[in-house]
Amino acid sequence: MRRTDEDIRLREIALGVVDGLIPLVEEGPDGRVNRPLLDALGQDLLPEIFPENVGGKLHGSVSARALCVIRECLGQHLPPAETALALQGLGGYPILLHATAAPMERWVPAVAAGRAVAGFALTEPEAGSDAAAISTSANRTDDGWVISGEKTWISNAPDADVYTVFARTGEEGSRGVSAFVVPGDSPGLTGDSLDMVAPHALGRIRLEEVTVPPDALLGEENRGFRVAMTTLDLFRPSVGAFAVGLAQAALDATLEHTASREAFGGTLGDLQAIQHGVADMAVDIETARLLVFEAADEYDNGGPDVTRLSAMAKLHATEMASRVVDKAIQFHGARALERGHLLEELYREVRAPRIYEGASEVQRTIIARELLSSERTRE
Ligand SMILES: Cc1cc2nc3c(=O)[nH]c(=O)nc-3n(C[C@H](O)[C@H](O)[C@H](O)COP(=O)(O)OP(=O)(O)OC[C@H]3O[C@@H](n4cnc5c(N)ncnc54)[C@H](O)[C@@H]3O)c2cc1C
Repeated sequence: MRRTDEDIRLREIALGVVDGLIPLVEEGPDGRVNRPLLDALGQDLLPEIFPENVGGKLHGSVSARALCVIRECLGQHLPPAETALALQGLGGYPILLHATAAPMERWVPAVAAGRAVAGFALTEPEAGSDAAAISTSANRTDDGWVISGEKTWISNAPDADVYTVFARTGEEGSRGVSAFVVPGDSPGLTGDSLDMVAPHALGRIRLEEVTVPPDALLGEENRGFRVAMTTLDLFRPSVGAFAVGLAQAALDATLEHTASREAFGGTLGDLQAIQHGVADMAVDIETARLLVFEAADEYDNGGPDVTRLSAMAKLHATEMASRVVDKAIQFHGARALERGHLLEELYREVRAPRIYEGASEVQRTIIARELLSSERTRE
């Protein structure tokens, strides 16, 4: 794929910081927020994905392509740093895109600098893919809102300093949901962490009559689903970019291994079955990369097909990465299944992206809905 000058600049910054981040990743707590790592990401990389905010006004705009370049590069070279950066973006973007001046000023510069940790709280124990079925409630009072409910598999919980919380303020379904900025130290907000297959900082939070002021509302009342969907349209291509990075790491390791592993009087790489396998892996990765960057450009250009292309990019790239990592393990043999091997790490990392931010089946539904609705408009 052709990289722009800006892609190359961002890749160089990301590659330049990776080595310095490795000890912070190794020394950090598994499955909990790694503040020294976020602090380091806040020096170079996080500011690249958060436009400058002066007095509550944004200078510049969010770039889906920049997010993809950085996530692909970190996914390839240091997945735990990629995840830390991505979770900050997911938690911070709803505030950046939809908050009024005061919460924007309070939180966005701190999140962009890695000083404040952000979480995105949509999913509930009884409402995952069917996010419009959430039951966390927000009731209006004279002083703002009172929020009660439970959220699970939430990025950076229970340690986040600020959450975007989605809660019901109106009728059943997606038209009765609003989004709120909720400080992590709010009285009535508690939580615990979850132990996941890959060491992601993920947890549950419970809100018991948590009060927030009127300006905590993100966007309009009962339009919170729009806040969630605009964030996900921006984020989904970059989930694909992360998957492309993981798959590229698996292919690179496979090329190195099969070129040197001796067998049958030559190397594994001399066998045609292996050659065809790595060729298929490379084609799979490159086609996914093209689709990911096509979707990111559609977002950045304000094109009409953002939702369809974002869903396609996420679906295709995350499914592709699982196939590629699986094949890489096959071509490495038993050594790839020893704990601590790069491919063992990739095998654990590659699974969740097919589920979060809309499972693959949900992406297919979105793609079909978009295709059919444009067909109906043509009729
Ligand atoms: C690592 C990780 C990070 C996450 N981070 C966050 C976060 O920061 N914030 C947050 O709010 N949530 C987060 N989540 C939760 C995630 O968004 C949900 O897990 C996801 O939406 C699916 O919901 P569920 O797990 O309840 O599965 P369910 O909704 O119960 O679905 C189970 C399965 O059923 C199938 N299915 C579901 N719907 C359909 C359909 N319409 N058609 C066909 N098949 C279908 C799919 O195979 C799906 O995987 C995270 C999850 C993981 C694993």
